[in-house]
Amino acid sequence: MRYKPIAYQSALGEDERLQMDYPKPRPWQEEERYYSFSRYLKERFPFKVHKIALHAGFTCPNRDGYKGTGGCTYCANESFSPNARGEVQSIREQVKRGKEYLKRRYGAEKFIVYFQAFSNTYADIKTLSTRYNEALEDEDVIGLSIGTRPDCVPDEVLELLNSYKNNYHLWIEYGLQSIHDRTLRRINRCHTYKDFEEAVQRTKALGINVCAHVILGLPEEDWADTMATAEALAKLGIDGVKLHHLYIARSTPMAEEYSKGLVKTMEAEEYVTLAADFLERILPETTIQRLVGDTHGDALISPIWPFTKAQIFQSITGELCRRNSYQGKKWRQDRKNPNAKILITN
Ligand code: SF4
Repeated sequence: MRYKPIAYQSALGEDERLQMDYPKPRPWQEEERYYSFSRYLKERFPFKVHKIALHAGFTCPNRDGYKGTGGCTYCANESFSPNARGEVQSIREQVKRGKEYLKRRYGAEKFIVYFQAFSNTYADIKTLSTRYNEALEDEDVIGLSIGTRPDCVPDEVLELLNSYKNNYHLWIEYGLQSIHDRTLRRINRCHTYKDFEEAVQRTKALGINVCAHVILGLPEEDWADTMATAEALAKLGIDGVKLHHLYIARSTPMAEEYSKGLVKTMEAEEYVTLAADFLERILPETTIQRLVGDTHGDALISPIWPFTKAQIFQSITGELCRRNSYQGKKWRQDRKNPNAKILITN
């Protein structure tokens, strides 16, 4: 993988750029330096909110032959979605157990139910509404977040989801990974960037929050490719981002490629630099729902980093501090149009 050294020069002076970006600095710009989802939730709710990840028993059109077979080459859903392992419990039971655990561990008070495993809009409307409603019936559930593919949201599904918007804090999370169709083909996503763009536009037109999942370090992507993904998300006005590093999980097609030397993974230091570059190029309003990938169990082949997730978070904050930078630093307000931002490219 090729990485360009960071060469950040602007036609604007540092003081001028800071003033133009934010007349009043936001606390996170001087603290963690990115707009974390926990901060976003604290700003909105007077109680502690946590997400409960669910496996609702759906499958995926990229596995059952409708869109493709074999799935995305990196996908071992059970490695990143703990609830996808073993026998699927009832949704009611998963919510109950999730609540108990999160209350005990983090003092959580209210919950967003997160339909995480596989493609959670891939069923008929009646099945979807039955499963969503079962998760929402608990009085402590105040939000709904649906993870799915961008080519799996017909209008009737968006309308169903929109019907929850007035009573619940609502998100749709689309797996994108990269804006480059050649990369999407390489990892067998079986959808295009255009599919994603259209899904985002249709979803945002209804006023539903959209989160995009992105993988940094995908095969045959260089630094410029990754930054182009960040900039495209900013231009789409995406509301949330989940960043993952590329990792190789057992029993995946990518594990096979990795064993032949056709795919490489990053060192932690590389990821920290790349994630900081990415954060500078998305908008400051975009909340960061995940900053690094997470594997469960013994599925992980590579990379094996000698750091905890918390240490990676601290390193990304440290890197942004070192640059005197923060999320969205590359964007500034357009003086001529208060609704527009300009990307500082030089
Ligand atoms: S769309 Fe999601 S669940 Fe389906 S194969 Fe790809 S990563 Fe796995």
